[in-house]
Amino acid sequence: MFEVTIKKSFCAAHLLNNIGGYCEHLHGHNFIVEVTTIGEELNSAGILVDFRELKKFLDEIMDALDHKYLNETPAFCDTNPSAENIAKYIYEQMSNKLQLADVSVKKVTVWESENAKASFDSVSKSKMSQGGEDRTV
Ligand SMILES: [Zn+2]
Repeated sequence: MFEVTIKKSFCAAHLLNNIGGYCEHLHGHNFIVEVTTIGEELNSAGILVDFRELKKFLDEIMDALDHKYLNETPAFCDTNPSAENIAKYIYEQMSNKLQLADVSVKKVTVWESENAKASFDSVSKSKMSQGGEDRTV
């Protein structure tokens, strides 16, 4: 199995409702986003997916988030723009854009600081849709 990962940063402000403490106050981060794709077969050029293509897609998604007050963006007007929800949003947007038969988005990680990250991945998503049965294995 091959994995290809790209990374990009963006600046944004947010506040998190209902969690208590100073995160409920308006503040900003230099978020770092990592997107990992996965697939079994390389193309004739010996690559899984072109880095430039992934970067183009991530740039398009970042345009809606970079230098924005996230709580007022369409993506997060009804949900807290936590690192977890940002990771899930980018995962879904990237999955929509990446229309290659043999390559899928495996995981999106959002670093809120150099010491704190949250991720959303296809494995935990499928486990959740199965009712968490895999937890007993
Ligand atoms: Zn924050």
